[in-house]
Amino acid sequence: MNTPDIVQLLPDHIANQIAAGEVVQRPASAVKELLENAIDAEASSIQVILQEAGKTLLQVVDDGKGMSPTDARMCFERHATSKIRTGEDLFRIRTMGFRGEALASIAAIAQVELKTARSDEEVGTLIRIEGSSVKTQESISWSQGTSIQVKNLFYNVPARRNFLKSNPVEMRHIIDEFQRVALANPEVAFTLHHNNSEIFNLPQGKLVRRITDIFGKNYREQLVFCQEETSLLSLRGYIGKPECAKKTRGEQFFFVNNRYIKSSYLHHALVTAFEGTIPEGSHPFYVLFIEIDPSHIDINIHPTKSEIKFDDERSVYAILMAAIRRSIGVYNLGGDSIDFD
Ligand code: ADP
Ligand code: MG
Repeated sequence: MNTPDIVQLLPDHIANQIAAGEVVQRPASAVKELLENAIDAEASSIQVILQEAGKTLLQVVDDGKGMSPTDARMCFERHATSKIRTGEDLFRIRTMGFRGEALASIAAIAQVELKTARSDEEVGTLIRIEGSSVKTQESISWSQGTSIQVKNLFYNVPARRNFLKSNPVEMRHIIDEFQRVALANPEVAFTLHHNNSEIFNLPQGKLVRRITDIFGKNYREQLVFCQEETSLLSLRGYIGKPECAKKTRGEQFFFVNNRYIKSSYLHHALVTAFEGTIPEGSHPFYVLFIEIDPSHIDINIHPTKSEIKFDDERSVYAILMAAIRRSIGVYNLGGDSIDFD
């Protein structure tokens, strides 16, 4: 007799829990995913509400386009997305999301309550889901937009829960994610509340206003505008004057097609451009936006999408370095390079 076959497909809730391990490392990752969904839903105002650094409660409320009752249920399925449909779409991504993994992952490792309604509907939908299984689905009265409440993250993953850091450390991670999304979307109003106190209240405005609302009014005089158009990409944003470079990192922001990315390679281009104007080992302030045809980049390297690949990284480096050098030069010559766009 042959030995029986042993390979089986995992049940969905286990597959979701495994995927969650990659997508949701800590409360900040859930906040990032929910914020990005609100941005993709074209919200003009987004509120973040936290208790215990997001460990017991994290909630994101938006006034975006909302979901139909069927979509509200569907969005918790793994690989369920409204953002791409075909393989080719992967090469023209303009949205923050596209993997259809975040809500399925979050619902596998927390108690989630979704309230949502579209503008053309009289009633909204309430769904409660826990450990990937739907507990409640009912109609409610709700105005246009979506609220997603995530309670007791990792309630069923003790190893992860125990691995979480102190509230101040987890809050630091959340604030980092929040600031990145807020910087990339100055035309959207944001608030952030923690344990019932307001940490941020950012009105809609231009990029300079958003930078000063986050980092302080004294940054206004420190900002030097940068702009460059080439056939490969367009660059826009602000660098801080050399004298406000700091020993510590943390105020360096690159956005590619409005997505915050980590890139030590591109950071190096900036530091090199500043060479001779800042002390060695210090880091310039910058908030820079690169717009590039999505077919030149691959975002699909990591589930959190915080790194990307350019097909021509060296050209991006060279363009960036030249543009920043020029901006520093214009500033050093006393030119008016501050453009409060
Ligand atoms: P992705 O963002 O990669 O598509 P998610 O799991 O984050 O995957 O979300 C699944 C789907 O749920 C989205 O494609 C979108 O259609 C819908 N959705 C999620 N959040 C919101 C929201 N705040 N407003 C409207 N629709 C949403
Ligand atoms: Mg998403």
